[in-house]
Amino acid sequence: MKAPSTLRLLYAFALLAAGLTGVAVSWTAFGRQLDTYAYDFIFRLYRPPYWHTESAILAIDEASLKAFGGIRGVRHALAAGLDLIRSAAPRAVAVDVILSDAAEETSDAELEAAFRRTPNLVLAADLLPRASGWEDPIPRFARWAAAIGHVHAELDSLDGVSREVPLERATARDRHWALALEAFRVSRHATILETPQDLEVAGVTIPSAIAAGRDLRIRYVPPGMPPIPRVSIEQLRLDPALARQFAGKVVFVGETAQTDVHDRLVTPYSGGAQMAGIEIHANAYETIAHRLFLTDASNAAVLLWCALLVTAAGFTFAYAAGWRANVLAALLLIAAHALPYLVFTRGVVFPLMPGVSALWLAIVTAAFWRHFVTRRFLKTAEDQRSRYQQAMHFVTHEMRTPLTAIQGSSELLGRYALPEAKRTQMAAMINAESKRLASMIQTFLNVERLTAGQMQLQRGNFAPDELIAACLDRVRPLAQNKDITIDASGAPGVISGDRELLEYAVYNLLTNAIKYSPPHTRVEVLSETVDGALRVSVKDQGIGMDRQEARRVFEKFYRTEKAERSGEMGSGVGLSIVEQIARQHGGSVRVESAPGQGSTFTLVLPHHSA
Ligand code: ADP
Repeated sequence: MKAPSTLRLLYAFALLAAGLTGVAVSWTAFGRQLDTYAYDFIFRLYRPPYWHTESAILAIDEASLKAFGGIRGVRHALAAGLDLIRSAAPRAVAVDVILSDAAEETSDAELEAAFRRTPNLVLAADLLPRASGWEDPIPRFARWAAAIGHVHAELDSLDGVSREVPLERATARDRHWALALEAFRVSRHATILETPQDLEVAGVTIPSAIAAGRDLRIRYVPPGMPPIPRVSIEQLRLDPALARQFAGKVVFVGETAQTDVHDRLVTPYSGGAQMAGIEIHANAYETIAHRLFLTDASNAAVLLWCALLVTAAGFTFAYAAGWRANVLAALLLIAAHALPYLVFTRGVVFPLMPGVSALWLAIVTAAFWRHFVTRRFLKTAEDQRSRYQQAMHFVTHEMRTPLTAIQGSSELLGRYALPEAKRTQMAAMINAESKRLASMIQTFLNVERLTAGQMQLQRGNFAPDELIAACLDRVRPLAQNKDITIDASGAPGVISGDRELLEYAVYNLLTNAIKYSPPHTRVEVLSETVDGALRVSVKDQGIGMDRQEARRVFEKFYRTEKAERSGEMGSGVGLSIVEQIARQHGGSVRVESAPGQGSTFTLVLPHHSA
């Protein structure tokens, strides 16, 4: 099991990766397509407060064309229409008809005359394929125009829906502002002030950064609101009084005939039905004139939002459990879906996909992580419990031996008149066995107290040499039993620490070295001073252990398989106590070993002075 801090770091990295992947997914064509659907959905869901439209549409519809002799009669119809609305004194007139070629002289002369009589006239230019040039009106018409605006609509490259209009379009040689913008400028007798971030016309700041292609998101007149008034030339011809609809308005003149497939577009409101290009220009004009701007949230804001969601998901699954975690995750998902709508009501377009996909991936990652890690933790806890049970079994078994001896001897003593020598021997045995029992109990109590951090160190200054000598005296009988030689060499000096606990630690390392070594081998004890710390190492030529075992021997109740098979009794707690003791002294204990090659345990203790 990894240390909790490493695990936490890994968890954070996994979440970061999930979040970044989510954002990356939202940047693919698929992600962007979903985002545009979300945009359209929100666009339809949120109805802006109604406003009084300032534009009107003079439509060249089928009936008008028919009355003026079909498609070739367009210029005729246009001239007649302009003459019919003149009495209403429109504020400006924008004509979305491409007039880049000369046609029949009579109709051209008639149209030129109509243009001459139309103040604040804006004519249209269309961009040639691949922006190779402009289809500008021929000079005889252009000279009467206050401005020429482009009528190039910006269709979404993914689904062909018209959501925005580029306010500026340029070829290599020259550029035009959009027809709607020019109509606005001319109607206000203003100029266009450019900055990299926006355009300013007649006191209106239009957010349209060069970096974003100077696009203007069009706020279409919502369903339910009185639409932009629309009168066809033919209707006007039959009832000239209809001209009052154009009084003081900015008039957009253009074809609306169904046959003109070229100039009919889909909008977020139209649900697949198409809108004439001229209506789109009028809507763009309304957006500008009424400052109904929709600006895009900055990338930094979007990334920050994603980071926030991912972090929240991470904390949710790290600290909440069960249904609470699920409820919190659901709330986060609701927030991720609702924020784009909420900010849309404030005129800011916030993409839905980055937050949603980053959050989803983060939730899946965090939930998976918790499942995985929790299971590992459970398994570790279970392992520990079973080892604890084994140890308890061992302890009760071990206790039985001295208890039986004590019981037996005391019974004999009570029942029979034994010779004096025998009585003394039995009393000594009872004494020794009960001490053994007491020390076993003490050991177990120590483990529990040390691990709970309740043991107080009784610090004092003493010579480590002396301590090692005392331990050697105690283990010598054990070593002699197996004919094991012990060599000791040490550095003089004084150490500050708890003498009793440190003696226990060194004694433990020594008894282990003897226990887990075959007869006729050697154990070396070396104490030295390195960088102001005392190092006591105990080296044996015993059974050793592999790397994985070496990593676990300091765990409570852990015993290696080789140790179990060796027939040596043990509980697996000694080394865990040694480690606790070393740690309480601000030191450490480590082992170097290989199977069959012997082991070297080294105890490192600070505060040593030579
Ligand atoms: P115990 O000796 O009671 O089993 P310890 O906590 O002292 O418990 O040791 C834990 C385990 O570490 C031992 O069971 C044994 O597997 C291994 N071990 C300890 N010291 C040595 C050693 N010197 N050589 C080989 N293995 C050792």
